[in-house]
Amino acid sequence: MKFDQQEIEKCKLLIDKAHNILISTHKSPDGDAIGSSTALYHILTAYGKQCEIVLPDDAPDFLKWMLQDVQYKVYETDNEQVIHSIASCDLLFVCDYNHFGRVGKELETIFTASKMPAIMIDHHQQPASFPTVTMSDTSACSTCEMIYRFANLCGLNQCIGNSAAASIYCGIMTDTGSFRFDSVKAETHRIVAHLMEMGIDHAAIHREVYDTQLPERLKLVGYSLHQKLNISNDGCTAWIWLDAEELKAHSYRQGDAEGLVNYALSIKGVKLAAFFREGNNEIKISFRSKGQFDVNTFARNHWNGGGHFHAAGGSSSDSMEDVLMKFQNLLHQYAIDIKQS
Ligand code: 5GP
Ligand code: MN
Repeated sequence: MKFDQQEIEKCKLLIDKAHNILISTHKSPDGDAIGSSTALYHILTAYGKQCEIVLPDDAPDFLKWMLQDVQYKVYETDNEQVIHSIASCDLLFVCDYNHFGRVGKELETIFTASKMPAIMIDHHQQPASFPTVTMSDTSACSTCEMIYRFANLCGLNQCIGNSAAASIYCGIMTDTGSFRFDSVKAETHRIVAHLMEMGIDHAAIHREVYDTQLPERLKLVGYSLHQKLNISNDGCTAWIWLDAEELKAHSYRQGDAEGLVNYALSIKGVKLAAFFREGNNEIKISFRSKGQFDVNTFARNHWNGGGHFHAAGGSSSDSMEDVLMKFQNLLHQYAIDIKQS
């Protein structure tokens, strides 16, 4: 899908008019969330704009390198300052999420009450229609790819410096499982080729993200695969769940469980994989599929969530026991769909 030129013109006007720009992304930020918001920060700063990033909660350590030399605040630990920032900004960017529910209840209320114009740049399914401008491309492999295209269409290509290029690369790399998902197009590789010509150190970016694990994290992966992997009788669904005690016993830090669900999906014959993690007052859930089973719809219909066709998430305020019971009941209900997918 191409960006609409009229929408681009609207964005250019909004950016030119703005004095203080707030860039926001979703809760539990991943590589594409931090990549897209920091890339946009660097691009707009290079264009001469005053920018700040607001994160609902902090980034995991393996993404912190992108937040160096960036002005950012975390709502969870600094809510008053964030409220102050929101009040003093006149343009909001919504990066890598498509409705305000993705920033958490309190921040959602604040953003909804704020009257400032909002520009959404996102690739998730079924975008909400709240923003002033909605740049939605559900076929894009990542929001970072969209940021690259957006900057070029707005005539800001000269503003993509080394830091922005590295952030864009990181978001594309992490949201495509290192360039292997269906969403990767020839255009994705052309963009990446350009980023490499600009001089990014792609191997170093890969090392920062994937080779900086603490032993506790690897032990948590080992424990989960050895002790907590469940497979349905028909062999089509695999899931892992971790409660608060298990996480504590492995010194859990934000981001440590990332990727666990992909191990479950990598099993031969498995078409649906799920991961359940007990968090603060909720169970956070990740779904992945291969084939024709649409986890976006599954998460949307049953788990108060959404995402993409093959990767989605949701949450529940029920106990882990109830959540797992509900999941297994749904597996019976969807058994044929999953098997034939
Ligand atoms: P993950 O399982 O890696 O947390 O998320 C997979 C995909 O689903 C990502 O694109 C993420 O943005 C989306 N996602 C995760 N949790 C939620 C949720 O609670 N609600 C919605 N709408 N999307 C989610
Ligand atoms: Mn994304």
